[in-house]
Amino acid sequence: MGLVETFRGPVESDRLGATLIHEHIFVRNPELEVNLHDGEWDPSSAVETAVVGLNDLYEQGIQTVVDLTVLGLGRDVRLVSEVADRVPVNLIAATGWYTSNVLPPYFRFRGPGRMIDGADPLVELFVRDIREGIAGGNVRAGMLKVMTGEEGLTPDVAQVMSAAAIAHQETGVPITTHSHPASRNGLAQQAFLGERGVAPERMIIGHSGDTEDIDYLRELMDNGSTIGMDRFGMEHVLSDERRVRTVATLLGLGYADRMVLSHDAAYYSHVTPPSWRARSAPMWRMDTISQRVIPMLRDSGVSSEEITQMLVANPRRLLEGS
Ligand SMILES: [Zn+2]
Repeated sequence: MGLVETFRGPVESDRLGATLIHEHIFVRNPELEVNLHDGEWDPSSAVETAVVGLNDLYEQGIQTVVDLTVLGLGRDVRLVSEVADRVPVNLIAATGWYTSNVLPPYFRFRGPGRMIDGADPLVELFVRDIREGIAGGNVRAGMLKVMTGEEGLTPDVAQVMSAAAIAHQETGVPITTHSHPASRNGLAQQAFLGERGVAPERMIIGHSGDTEDIDYLRELMDNGSTIGMDRFGMEHVLSDERRVRTVATLLGLGYADRMVLSHDAAYYSHVTPPSWRARSAPMWRMDTISQRVIPMLRDSGVSSEEITQMLVANPRRLLEGS
């Protein structure tokens, strides 16, 4: 057993229960909010939407949600804390940087041997978020998140990944990736992080459920990592029926201890606002797994033990090793 950091402080890992390991409470862009009016963004109504949604989720058996909204996605833990204080669900914060290509110029001029010489500001940020608390508050990050997209390991993306590897080695906090399975780049993520001292067992290769390439997914898991079947409800990318079929196939091959389930959904996102989601992605909600996917898995012959393994035991194993 171990303690896991949440928005309301440390929680014993055996109390995490069913966990959605890759979600977003609010995805924002504060600069755009100031300069480009978004008629759908209202902080207080967004908080109400999240509070209602998370209370419903708890009634459906979900006890923990990991908010993988890191910097680059408009992380604002003060606003999310307003939600966390009003729901029984444990919310877990994350640190990291979301970019598929470049960092803000701030980082180009700072770091070892750079114009403003000093420690790598990304390492300092990630370690402080995990050890001391985010933005001067007392919410500590329980997960690191990095990404590589179609552009691969650009210099700035490599800088983020390297900093996350160092922060992981100093703190033990697990790393979730945003991967691009169409280019099978989860393998490159495993190799890059592995060379920097991150055990594959401490990585979740995220968005792996976007592909049906069984050989690729087995290779990621045979290397030791857990794969994120974490975009249920994103039927505009791949239908839930096909996502379920892939999970059932891999369970049949004995991989129950190497998969986690989630939606990558959000209560508000400025990229794909609520009006668009209601119209074009109606199943992309945080209750799709409990309402729809679990019955579909059962119909495919998946056992309750396997579902519990993926929703409870696997997230707990990853989160408690910090
Ligand atoms: Zn995400």
